[in-house]
Amino acid sequence: MAAHALLVDLGRCIGCQACVVACKAGNELQEGEANIRIREVVRGKFPNLSGSFVHHRCFHCADAGCVSVCPTGALSKLDGLTAVDAAKCSGCGYCVDACPYGVPKMVDGRVSKCTACLDVVATGGVPYCVQTCPSEAIKFGSREAMLGLAAQRVAEIRGQFPNAQIYGETQLGGLGTLMVLPDDPETLGLPAAPQVPALVNAWQKGIQPLTQGFTALGLITTGLAFLFARRNHRLETAARREAEAVAEKEARDGDVH
Ligand code: SF4
Ligand code: SF4
Ligand code: SF4
Repeated sequence: MAAHALLVDLGRCIGCQACVVACKAGNELQEGEANIRIREVVRGKFPNLSGSFVHHRCFHCADAGCVSVCPTGALSKLDGLTAVDAAKCSGCGYCVDACPYGVPKMVDGRVSKCTACLDVVATGGVPYCVQTCPSEAIKFGSREAMLGLAAQRVAEIRGQFPNAQIYGETQLGGLGTLMVLPDDPETLGLPAAPQVPALVNAWQKGIQPLTQGFTALGLITTGLAFLFARRNHRLETAARREAEAVAEKEARDGDVH
């Protein structure tokens, strides 16, 4: 089947949160669990300010780091989207570290993120968020059609927003959540060139192939390898932060004398 995609048009979103509520209700999420988070970003300098509502949600990356590291198959790619089978999730949390957007969360020891409402889509429907949006800011369909719509919208709003652009056409192999942005990604808090963490690449290229064919042993080995890599990464980060704090203190002390 052709790849599907969601299209979120930030030029239309009014921040009403109806999609957030519809997603929670339709997918029976727990209290505090959310697949969409919306924040307002104000750009420019006074008095020339403009605001946009930016969505934080799964981008359904073609090169999905979360899928690459999941040892149980709880995360997988289906028709361009990143599907979730929470029943298969072991709660290891590797996907949390592997996502360049910080999307997956652990809820009651299982992965939680946007499922693209694939159960609804399988019966010919569209995701709950799409059904609910009062300003038609979210669309769903073939990725090709969504790219066409996005290009049309960008052309429409360029007069008002000269930096308007499509987000997700090429990032991470092409995203399954495309966005129409009124401005450059960085001004909206989105990475222009997101990268799959180096740890994931090392895991895929170095360790995973060695363990193929030895399922049980492989799972243990890859799990341990990833844990060590993650621990090293955290230690390095802590050491860097400590060095920065010392440098800052020395700079402050220098200012005092
Ligand atoms: S945004 Fe994160 S959770 Fe979603 S597909 Fe990409 S890597 Fe996976
Ligand atoms: S596609 Fe479905 S699961 Fe994803 S944000 Fe929309 S309603 Fe929620
Ligand atoms: S329902 Fe539509 S307008 Fe309201 S916050 Fe969601 S995307 Fe924006």
